[in-house]
Amino acid sequence: MQTHLADFIKDTPAGREADAILRSCVHCGFCNATCPTFQLLGDELDGPRGRIYLIKEMLEGQPVTARTQLHLDRCLTCRACESTCPSGVNYHRLYEIGRAVMEQRVPRSLAARAKRSLLREALPRRWMFKPAVRIGQLLRPLLPDMLAEKVPMPAGTRLGGGLRPAAHPRRMVVLAGCVQPTLAPNTNAATARVLDRLGIELIEVAGAACCGALRHHLDAREQALDDMRRVIDAWWPELERGRVEGFVMTASGCGGHVREYAALLKHDSAYADKAARISAMTHDASEVLAAEQPRLLELLRAARAGVGERVAFHSPCSLQHAQKIRGLVEALLTAAGYQLSPVADAHLCCGSAGTYSITQPVLARQLRDQKLAALDAGSPALLVTANVGCQMHLQSGSQLPVRHWIELIDERLHAAS
Ligand code: SF4
Ligand code: SF4
Repeated sequence: MQTHLADFIKDTPAGREADAILRSCVHCGFCNATCPTFQLLGDELDGPRGRIYLIKEMLEGQPVTARTQLHLDRCLTCRACESTCPSGVNYHRLYEIGRAVMEQRVPRSLAARAKRSLLREALPRRWMFKPAVRIGQLLRPLLPDMLAEKVPMPAGTRLGGGLRPAAHPRRMVVLAGCVQPTLAPNTNAATARVLDRLGIELIEVAGAACCGALRHHLDAREQALDDMRRVIDAWWPELERGRVEGFVMTASGCGGHVREYAALLKHDSAYADKAARISAMTHDASEVLAAEQPRLLELLRAARAGVGERVAFHSPCSLQHAQKIRGLVEALLTAAGYQLSPVADAHLCCGSAGTYSITQPVLARQLRDQKLAALDAGSPALLVTANVGCQMHLQSGSQLPVRHWIELIDERLHAAS
């Protein structure tokens, strides 16, 4: 694609990066076929090719309007288009560059600004988020359906809860996260128990809470960079002392973002090297477990007697498209004796997408209901996923329990012990 970027951006690092990405797009439109918003709305501007064109126009200095904002806001940043694109177009980076320009040029209404500001301030802070969820749970019976379904049911910690303190020579760090400890506290606890069986001690480090993804996606770039630096500052001493062999992510949304630290902080001379090292040492929990075979398979084989529950797995976009991790969770669940029911259109987003379910509730609900229909089609006994956002979003519309897959592995190992 030919480009003529405007003076305001063409000689900046962002301009040069955007120019290279735009030139790599051959405008073939293959990506539209796997774009959830294009499939729902059927509008060229609600597909990746149209959005790329809108961003190109903007960076070439043409007027930026509410129409640009509407179509860019509707993008889930699910990155399904990147998985499909034969030319390897780095859509999400182009989108980030374009969205930053759009935020400066197109004002938002007072209500929209208030909503986004509330999300930016409250979600990453556990001391604000946790009591807010508790109040919502108390008021749930009084809320209208549309609001009530957004309030998660109280979460329990199974099998004793808490990270197991057992010491092992091998040690890994897990991100505590911001909303996960309130909404799904059993996820990290289950991961710690499973790794303990494999002779790995899992610790959380105080000070490393929100990875920065939430604020990054809400266009609070400086705040997001501060969140990322805080995580690095908390983790770095553990690395320097040589006490950890890697960082384990139990929410694929956070994992995808921490893996981007290297790119997002590459111009920060104080943090670039540290960010690159941490990104390189970051792994999804499924990768960590897959690397522990054959010991894990041995344990699972011993635990399989009399099992066979049917489960449907929703692979989050942040797992399959952003981190390109495909088939690992499915293989682990199968090895643990679960029967995986088939899921049509498994590449499609469930509509959770960070804060999308709050900023774009109508589209998010349509995507969720489509996803649940696909998951339920194989008559599973429960649904599993790999990201707390997807877990809560799917649970809000499902009668079946929706759980993190590591909990199933944990329970299987526990039953055999
Ligand atoms: S992003 Fe890729 S698939 Fe989409 S139009 Fe451009 S080259 Fe084609
Ligand atoms: S990121 Fe997802 S929603 Fe956005 S253009 Fe690509 S496929 Fe469509």
